[in-house]
Amino acid sequence: MIRRADLEEREIKFLAPYAVKARLSHGRKYPEKEHEFRTCFQRDRDRILHSTAFRRLQYKTQVFVNHEGDHYRTRLTHTLEVSQIGRTICRVLGLNEDLIEAISLAHDLGHGPFGHAGERALTQIMKGHGGFEHNLQSLRIVEVLEESYPEFPGLNLSLEVLDGMKKHGSRRKKFPVYLEAQLADIADEIAYDSHDVEDALRSGLIEEAELEGLALWRDITSYILKKYASIDESQKRRLATRLLINRQAQDLISNTQKNIDRCGIRSLPDLGKTSERVVAFSREMTQLKKEWRSFLSERFYNHYRIVRMTEKGVRLIRAIFQVYLERPAQLPPTVVKRAKKEGLYRAVCDYIAGMTDRFAQDEYQRLFEPYERV
Ligand code: MG
Repeated sequence: MIRRADLEEREIKFLAPYAVKARLSHGRKYPEKEHEFRTCFQRDRDRILHSTAFRRLQYKTQVFVNHEGDHYRTRLTHTLEVSQIGRTICRVLGLNEDLIEAISLAHDLGHGPFGHAGERALTQIMKGHGGFEHNLQSLRIVEVLEESYPEFPGLNLSLEVLDGMKKHGSRRKKFPVYLEAQLADIADEIAYDSHDVEDALRSGLIEEAELEGLALWRDITSYILKKYASIDESQKRRLATRLLINRQAQDLISNTQKNIDRCGIRSLPDLGKTSERVVAFSREMTQLKKEWRSFLSERFYNHYRIVRMTEKGVRLIRAIFQVYLERPAQLPPTVVKRAKKEGLYRAVCDYIAGMTDRFAQDEYQRLFEPYERV
């Protein structure tokens, strides 16, 4: 039988000296007895996986609003891809796989309906009322809003997982100290930079010919055509996505290992002493990705049909927010209760941020369509 103590022992023996170890965790806000079989990070991962917020990711927008098609990425499949990419790279670098899995699975919990457009709507409305940001909302979910445990609010996750979630996001200047947390950020980027282009091609909003201007794409497709004289379009698209992920992962692994050696990192405290982001792409890949990103943003994220789709979400969020504010008695009792404690704006914001695309659309119908049942 392999128990928690054995797993912890293995980590100490087999992981890199600068990996985070479950046995040396700083613990939880509300102290708990350790589990017999699972390490603290494995337990955190399971708590996140079984949370209500996690299941809702299934019907939340990544780029395409949920009802647009069954084969596009959703927040849930995106999250699983981030976790898989993160774990693979983690394993190669001798880092803690369970920790990155927990951070990755939680990283997008705070996204509201309709992706970044939905976030923009909530940010505007919450200006002057405490603000809104999806990363902070993810934390709020795991620290306050999930109500599954009688002993404490939220999920009472280990401090290392919370820390990784806190500093997630490229807008934050200061990067996280743990390599696992730095990696979770970048695994997120690798996942969406690669799968967004696959979804864009699948949708027909972008033609493959448009990608020819990108060095990274030219490189990959010329390799594919050399290897397979005839390959059908959809297989080519998928192979290209796989190669894209592979390229980035390989570059990240070798460059990160170089950085570890160059910065003389031999322990966790060494990481605190370096002023640079250790988990990073090579200069060459950074440049290729920059070109890639600006293409995606110009041609895909700002494609008129994508904008029309997401702006509809913005209007819908504004409308239902307004309806609740005007007459809070239309809110379910649990939300009214929270409003008494934390104020109406915050309670409505939490309620709407928790909604899936599907629920928000149904709720709009219920509130505005005269013949719809309430
Ligand atoms: Mg993400």
